[in-house]
Amino acid sequence: MRFYSLNNQNFKVSFKEAVIAGIAPDRGLYFPEKISPLSPAFFQAKETNDPHQTAFEAIHQFVNEDIPDAVLKEIIANTLDFGFPVVELEENVATLELFHGPTMAFKDVGARFMANCLGYFSQNQKEEVTVLVATSGDTGGAVANGFLGVEGVKVVILYPSGKVSEIQEKQLTTLGQNIEALEVTGSFDDCQNMVKTAFLDSDITEHRKLTSANSINVARWLPQLFYFLFAYEQVKSKGKKVVFSVPSGNFGNICAGMVAQKLGMPVGHFIASTNVNNVVPKFMEKGTYEPMASIATISNAMDVGDPSNFVRIRHLYQNDFVALQKNLSSYSFSDLTTQEAMKQVHTNTGYVMDPHGAVGYLGLKEYQKKHPDTYGIFLETAHPVKFLDVVEDTLGISPEIPPQIQKVMGKEKKSIKIASYAELKSLLLES
Ligand SMILES: *Cc1c(COP(=O)(O)O)cnc(C)c1O
Repeated sequence: MRFYSLNNQNFKVSFKEAVIAGIAPDRGLYFPEKISPLSPAFFQAKETNDPHQTAFEAIHQFVNEDIPDAVLKEIIANTLDFGFPVVELEENVATLELFHGPTMAFKDVGARFMANCLGYFSQNQKEEVTVLVATSGDTGGAVANGFLGVEGVKVVILYPSGKVSEIQEKQLTTLGQNIEALEVTGSFDDCQNMVKTAFLDSDITEHRKLTSANSINVARWLPQLFYFLFAYEQVKSKGKKVVFSVPSGNFGNICAGMVAQKLGMPVGHFIASTNVNNVVPKFMEKGTYEPMASIATISNAMDVGDPSNFVRIRHLYQNDFVALQKNLSSYSFSDLTTQEAMKQVHTNTGYVMDPHGAVGYLGLKEYQKKHPDTYGIFLETAHPVKFLDVVEDTLGISPEIPPQIQKVMGKEKKSIKIASYAELKSLLLES
């Protein structure tokens, strides 16, 4: 399988090259040159399949020349050693819990898969690869955890000082080993801009091999299709049209779901649910894409004003707006509405949603007003304790802290404070 740059489809590279580079030299996102549907039997089989086998068959075509089957199976087993339960909350409304991994966010899946691939590609290489990543919260922890101890790979994480939750900060600053946390005086956008500048700075790129671990990297983006397949598997016997509502920020997760659909998974519709960062809901209404400066909300992992993966979605539909509208609806919700939904669901069912999941719930309910005949699944993208302040303020309860979080809370934070690009540059040029 080759991957082309979305800026120039004649520029093609292997999976391995796409993973190591992250982004094409012309700044285009990589995209698979072909998505071949799996056999209908793959989706119809009655007995519950082995999830590792399902994942293997789904991802195989994208990586097959670059990773031997036995290694790919091992990578999948390392990535998916936790569950992805679908929990029904109301009639025709269920949530897919994606928070049972080591850092309790769905990003564990992509981060671990990518770390394992890069670890494999780095074997017997002289030059170390540096993963440079900016985080507004969850990415950092998942990436740090996924790459911890991977030989030949160093990870440098930039996060905005004082703007991530205490749990998130501990998850990315307490691991040590090959993980370095840089605490930036500034906003997430400042962190992201520093990372982008570093990738374009030949002083740095001539000195070290840099790659990104954001969802633009195909090894982080594509494995996210696994759990859409697992969810479908769990609800297909209902015999209803299945729709997915995905709380979206950079739109990598929902785009992976659309790839699962291209593989032949029967999905009725996708719903992209956002907070007030509503570039995509507006696009779906008017057909014009107008990026904006991001607005801070309680679902802060989705505070994105120019979603990087949306070009992939448009490309999947060959930029045919009408075709896209048939398969995708998008709605935006305020913090107040989100908190009301958290309260209402907690009162009615006892279920505690995190603010991101709650946005997904709202989008699903909005869609089902006009399409009541569907079975809706919204993605719970993080465990509610990762957004403890919001959950406590909104619901007046203190959820129990799970053991994998407790473990990091007692550890000592280690970070290097930086305030400018020059400081980042000199750190990257050292050693
Ligand atoms: C990253 C993240 C999202 C957004 O996912 P995208 O793939 O960027 O759309 C949603 N919820 C949580 C909790 C996240 O960490």
